Amino acid sequence: MTLSSSKTRLASLRTELERRNPAEPEFHQASREVLESLAPLFAARPEYAQPGLIERLCEPERQIIFRVPWQDDGGTVHVNRGFRVEFNSALGPYKGGLRFHPSVNLGVVKFLGFEQIFKNALTGLGIGGGKGGSDFDPRGRSDSEVMRFCQSFMMELHRHIGEHTDVPAGDIGVGGREIGYLFGQYRRITNRWEAGVLTGKAEAWGGSAMRPQATGYGSVLFAGEMLSRRGEELAGQSAVVSGSGNVAVHTIEKLMRSGAHALTCSDSEGYVVDEKGIDLELLRQIKEVERARVSEYAERRGASARYVPGGRVWDVPCDVAFPSATQNELDRQDALTLVRNGVKAVSEGANMPTTPEAVGILQEAGVAFGPGKAANAGGVAVSALEMRQNAARDSWTPERVEDELAQIMRDIHRVTYETAERYGAPGDYVTGANIAGFERVADAMLAQGLI
Ligand code: GLU
Repeated sequence: MTLSSSKTRLASLRTELERRNPAEPEFHQASREVLESLAPLFAARPEYAQPGLIERLCEPERQIIFRVPWQDDGGTVHVNRGFRVEFNSALGPYKGGLRFHPSVNLGVVKFLGFEQIFKNALTGLGIGGGKGGSDFDPRGRSDSEVMRFCQSFMMELHRHIGEHTDVPAGDIGVGGREIGYLFGQYRRITNRWEAGVLTGKAEAWGGSAMRPQATGYGSVLFAGEMLSRRGEELAGQSAVVSGSGNVAVHTIEKLMRSGAHALTCSDSEGYVVDEKGIDLELLRQIKEVERARVSEYAERRGASARYVPGGRVWDVPCDVAFPSATQNELDRQDALTLVRNGVKAVSEGANMPTTPEAVGILQEAGVAFGPGKAANAGGVAVSALEMRQNAARDSWTPERVEDELAQIMRDIHRVTYETAERYGAPGDYVTGANIAGFERVADAMLAQGLI
């Protein structure tokens, strides 16, 4: 197959996918990026282009949508929608987080699940791809309301998951508190101590050391690898981080430990820039203890910090940027600003935070761009290490987990870099990650027959 006939085949696949999955723009965006990357692979290795393979990969193995009724503290009944998309289990049990956010719909869950297939394949740890969540908004809800919601959500979800079947974890709006409530309800319904059914548990009852840190730390490690290919290092670099959730907080922490200067954090209402570098203890107090907004940070921090309501965090000049909040948060204009300000590397801590146009601008300008499915794979990788510890009834030291995480991120960087070179796109980590992830999943699917 020539390159141009591969491109034609993939373009018609895309048209068909968009026709069969209407009104799912995020899923179209994520699948389009992967399909476009595969053209050089199809041209060089026709076995991967055989009819049916890519069509199967783009169709989830199973999609579950369910009603989640619950009562608030005042006794009012609310009805939310729950989702679990079990996308691909060729390499292992479905694995991926749950997102609780009002923006969650089937298209969002499918985009996340689709990305997860390739991300999980890149970890090399034997996990398939899935994702789930709900349009429930935990913001402003009491602990007991969140607990009742989680219990109702698990009342249905429990029939679809299991340590050898599907292993959910956290994502936006789902952290340690929610995993605790979900695990408690699963245990009660099933009468099983099945630690490996969920990851992101507390260390005292089956969780792994370093799981909360893993996504942010991994994203910084990936940026460090990209810089070292260019003969540079993280120490001394200025960094802009978006978001203020688990990924952002641990990105900031790891940047500081690496000798870089993390200058910002943000939420959906605005951003903070702190000339002295973000004070992590204060940020944690505000976000994790008080569950308040980042504007509060600037108010308490004093003269070094400034709050910019409604602003774009990407306007702050920096050497490295870490989009760590949510999808499509860094657009064309932001990319132009970053390039104008001399950014050297962008590492995606969130899933698909950079729009396709923005990715093009960054790559065109020679910025090292680490796509989420490679750069933020540290989180799910440590989840897979948590599953290993659970299966062996073992618990590893933080040092051991951190060493393994660092090795996994180095391996992911190497395989994506080398794959991009092999397929004629040197330095293009998007192409490298998509092809390398695809090859692993496709090999397993081909070997396992038409299922
Ligand atoms: N939600 C995270 C991700 O996007 C982690 C998933 C997991 O640990 O299973 O990869």
